[in-house]
Amino acid sequence: MALALGSNLGDRARHLARARAALAALPGTRLVGASAVEETAPLGGLDQPAYLNQVVLVDTDLEPRALLEECQAIERAAGRVRGERWASRSLDLDIIQYGRRRVAEPGLTIPHPELPNRDFWQRGLAEVQAHE
Ligand code: ATP
Ligand code: MG
Ligand code: MG
Repeated sequence: MALALGSNLGDRARHLARARAALAALPGTRLVGASAVEETAPLGGLDQPAYLNQVVLVDTDLEPRALLEECQAIERAAGRVRGERWASRSLDLDIIQYGRRRVAEPGLTIPHPELPNRDFWQRGLAEVQAHE
């Protein structure tokens, strides 16, 4: 399963590092790969600090919905305050892919529908998958 990490508030690299550690500590979950960290301009032409982004691979026994809920708990632990979509955040954790599974439920779409539009996710994914 591929997850996207993003941060543009506070100590961005530290938020990503803590997120990796928190993911690795989830029940039945192992971190099996991590791309280089890439800095990108904010989406949507918003006037915001730049983001640090990273793609990681995990092996997990958690079902997609449970994984999403764990990701949201990790975001909250990083002090994320939910504002508007694409608002600045200490941590964003998105599920890009879950094996070959497709999910289309309220509040959960996998593969993530923005994957085709985010070249930094595509680069990160290619990098981690090359090491699999
Ligand atoms: P974007 O989805 O464009 O990257 P965002 O990550 O800033 O925007 P959030 O505010 O983090 O958006 O999340 C909005 C909602 O997206 C969440 O409440 C969650 O239920 C939903 N969501 C749907 N599919 C996914 C997914 N694959 N990974 C993470 N969140 C998802
Ligand atoms: Mg996002
Ligand atoms: Mg998100």
